[in-house]
Amino acid sequence: DDERIRLKDKNDRATVDQVLDPRTLIVLHKMVKNQKIDQVFGCLSTGKEANVYLAEGHMDLESMTLSQPEGPEGVLKTYEFAIKIFKTSILVFKDRERYVSGEFRFRKGHCKSNPRKMVQLWAEKEVRNLKRLCMTDGLIKAPRPYLLKNNVIVMEFIGEGGLGAPRLRDAEIIDLQQCYVDVLFIMRRMYHMCRLVHADFSEYNMLYYHGEVWVIDVSQAVEHDHPMALDFLRRDCSNINDFFKKRGLQVLNTQQTFDFVTDITIEHENECLTNLFSKVSDTAPTREQEIQDEVFKQIYIPRTLQELSMEEIEKLKKHQERQASQPNTLNSEDMPLYSKLTGLAETQKDVDRENAEQQISESKSE
Ligand code: ADP
Ligand code: MG
Repeated sequence: DDERIRLKDKNDRATVDQVLDPRTLIVLHKMVKNQKIDQVFGCLSTGKEANVYLAEGHMDLESMTLSQPEGPEGVLKTYEFAIKIFKTSILVFKDRERYVSGEFRFRKGHCKSNPRKMVQLWAEKEVRNLKRLCMTDGLIKAPRPYLLKNNVIVMEFIGEGGLGAPRLRDAEIIDLQQCYVDVLFIMRRMYHMCRLVHADFSEYNMLYYHGEVWVIDVSQAVEHDHPMALDFLRRDCSNINDFFKKRGLQVLNTQQTFDFVTDITIEHENECLTNLFSKVSDTAPTREQEIQDEVFKQIYIPRTLQELSMEEIEKLKKHQERQASQPNTLNSEDMPLYSKLTGLAETQKDVDRENAEQQISESKSE
């Protein structure tokens, strides 16, 4: 029976054996026995926390129907799947603690002492988050999760003919500006429609397929009200901008990006972006602008009104009134930091400016 989980490439066997512990093998064998999949091929990717395999079968897992013979030859349609298997070795999961610790849903059941429970939790989270992304009716593209058993997820394969779609990092992007805009919209929709912050968003966790961006790897994504959500989001914005900047695009700064993603008052998103891009200058940012951006990256983000002083709340109210009278503008000059986000106000004065300058010098000398 062992032979039914076959590998295309014998050289992959070592990697497979290393990750596929007996329990995982049993899960896969059952899937084969129940005709959910026919066989598992070699690795699409080996990572620290998970490996992804290509699998094939005759069951359409979306509708759970077996394919029927087609054409005069009676050929059976085969379906391709991606199988993500979270590794049961615990070590690398240690620092992931903070991604679940703030979430109510995971407050009780996350068993630090039981590695198998831990990885199951990550698989569960990934499936829950993928489902949420897929509920946007295609506004956000993400692989559909089909099956979840322990640490094993069977999902839609992004690619064809056994060839996975490239990561954004490796892709030949047709229209860089359009792609950047698509990614900004993905972040905004993820935040407002799915109530999620990816928290590991970068060119490594997006696939580029037929000119469209697909979001993957969402096991660490957090609820928008997770205590660290906005810090993760700010980092995501910064990662995305760094990537497109490296490719030669004029990008928004971190705060403009963060505001575009979070601002609930924007009604006409395209207009708002056009307006923002019209302000992006062709020249490299001045030192002052660089410092401002670094300051933004380091400033403390208050999350609730309780964290603000009366004075700050007054300032925020005034600003929101001003905003209400002229919506769809993101004018950073007259705007307190974080005012775009309900419940947030200016905290820039707390920021150590010297610290920011230092940070810039360090990143330049790297
Ligand atoms: P990791 O935690 O190891 O980063 P990812 O979810 O990012 O896991 O997947 C690792 C790699 O596997 C991706 O970069 C991509 O190349 C491939 N991959 C993952 N999911 C799919 C999928 N649904 N379809 C095609 N390729 C995938
Ligand atoms: Mg990844």
